[in-house]
This record gives sequence, structure tokens and C-alpha cells, in this order.
Amino acid sequence: MNNLTLNTGITIPIIGIGTNTFGKENKDFMGAINNDTSELESALNMGYTLIDTAIAYRNESVVALAIKRSGLKRESLFITSKIPGKPEYTDTDELVEKAILSSLKELDTDYIDLYLIHHPWDDKDGIVRVWKVLERYVEKGVLKAIGVSNFNVEQLTHLLANCTLKPAVNQIESHPGSWNDDIVDFCRINNINVEAWSPLKRIPETSLETLKKIGLKYGKTWAQIVLRYQIERNVIVIPKSHSTERQKENLDILEFNLSDEDKALIKTL
Ligand code: NDP
Repeated sequence: MNNLTLNTGITIPIIGIGTNTFGKENKDFMGAINNDTSELESALNMGYTLIDTAIAYRNESVVALAIKRSGLKRESLFITSKIPGKPEYTDTDELVEKAILSSLKELDTDYIDLYLIHHPWDDKDGIVRVWKVLERYVEKGVLKAIGVSNFNVEQLTHLLANCTLKPAVNQIESHPGSWNDDIVDFCRINNINVEAWSPLKRIPETSLETLKKIGLKYGKTWAQIVLRYQIERNVIVIPKSHSTERQKENLDILEFNLSDEDKALIKTL
């Protein structure tokens, strides 16, 4: 697996597995937790090591169970979780601490590799206050790296001006039709790694056709072309699939290179 180095010095795999519908009835985000670990076990068995979960997904304990059943060592894995940007989790320092401790308990681990603020909210100074609690947990060695998600340039600028530890990652929506290149460029300049959520979703039909045509040249699918484009520009991808076949497909993107011409075309999609 290829890795990138975060601004903390720790490494992060460039491909991970999204999990927001794993372990749930009807593969539905809102579905009841059914403790089905087969999807994540399948991904872990084939070599995914970065797992993306969140308190909001309600499946941190399913992630823990899948890891246990896989037999893999904790240190061989990179776990990301997220604290919701909601008052019931962020209004006081004690609530933030409670969320971190809850994630640790649910994930059955004594450290989390990357912990993100899931969404920004209007109170920029409130975000800084929450950030300072997360910073304390980095000092304690409980959170190995901290970051944000869905932050725009303005929100990042305010945090950067007021933090001690820079966010290591900004996890944002990024795919054809919504690349969010302004945020990607800002993060690159500021040494913040970008992770793309929903890397394969909401892609306009015309862009899909173009991606399929490009794929024919490389013997790759449209999904592999999109994911390859992102990792070639050092954007981490966390595609999610319930199918073992497509999980394999999404991982099989490390051994080809897109031409400059094709990358220029994909950038316009
Ligand atoms: P993805 O972009 O990963 O797309 C998932 C969909 O694409 C599924 O329907 C899946 O179907 C299908 N799919 C997967 N691989 C392929 C393939 N090779 N070819 C064709 N179809 C494919 O969407 P997600 O919304 O799940 O995003 C990924 C992860 O990002 C989430 O699981 C979550 O961890 C994170 N996320 C974070 C957010 C945030 O606010 N920070 C917001 C949203 C997501 P099938 O299962 O049948 O293969």
C-alpha cells in the first residue's frame, strides 16, 4: 500500500475503506446496526488498512468487531473517526472529552490514528475551543493526529490562525462535478492532506461516459480512473463498496499512470 506522510510525521495509506453504511440493515445509512462485519472483514482481508468511520455512523463498535474477527494487529491499521460538529458533542470541553472516550471505547482501542471534526458550524471560536481539547488528547498520545472535515478555505484560515497543532487532514467531498479544487489547492499550500469522501458518487452522466472512454485505454474501469486521478495528485481516497469484487477493483489502482493529457481532461469534468 502506498503511504503519504502527514504534517505530524506519521504515515497514512493513500487508499482506505469508507464504512458509513457497513454493519447496518439494508446497507442503509439510517438502518439499524446488525453487527454484520462481513463487508469490512472482506476489505481488511484483501489489504485495506485505513478504515474511515465516525460517531455519526453509529458503527464504531462494528469496526472494532471486524478488526477482532480479522485477527489483524491494531498497529497494522489506521483508524479514522470523527466527532460530530453538533452542540450535544461540542458545547463544553467535557462533552468533547466524552465523545473521544466514547470513540475509544466503541472502537475497543487505546488510541485513534486520526480524529476529525466532522462538520464545521457557525461559531468559529467555538471550533477553536473544541480543537484545543483535541490538541490536549494528541499531547496525551491518545489521538495520533487530528483534522477536520467539510471545512472551506475561510474556516480553515481561522483555525490555522488560532491553533497550536495544524490540522493534518481535511476530508471533503471531491469527485467529478464537484472537485472542490480551491480547497484542495489551499490545503496543499498549507501542508494539510486532503481526503476525498464520496469519491465515486454523484458523478454527472456525461463525465461517466468520458471516464469510461479513458478507462478503455488503460484496461481500467471509470471508478479506477477517478480514484487514480485523485491519488496521483496526493488526495487520499476512501471509497466504500459492499461488494468484494468492487472493493478489489478500487484497490487495484497502484500500478498504472494517467497521461498528462488525460489528467488535464479529467480535471475539467
Ligand atoms: P462512494 O463514493 O464510496 O460510493 C459508494 C457507492 O459507489 C456505493 O453505492 C457502491 O456500491 C458504489 N461503488 C463502489 N465502488 C464501485 C466501483 N468500483 N464501481 C461502481 N460502483 C462502485 O460513497 P460514500 O458516500 O460511501 O463515501 C465514501 C466514504 O466517505 C463513506 O463511506 C464515509 O466513510 C466517508 N464519507 C464522509 C463524509 C464526511 O462528511 N466526512 C460524507 C460522506 C462520506 P456497492 O456497495 O454496490 O459497490
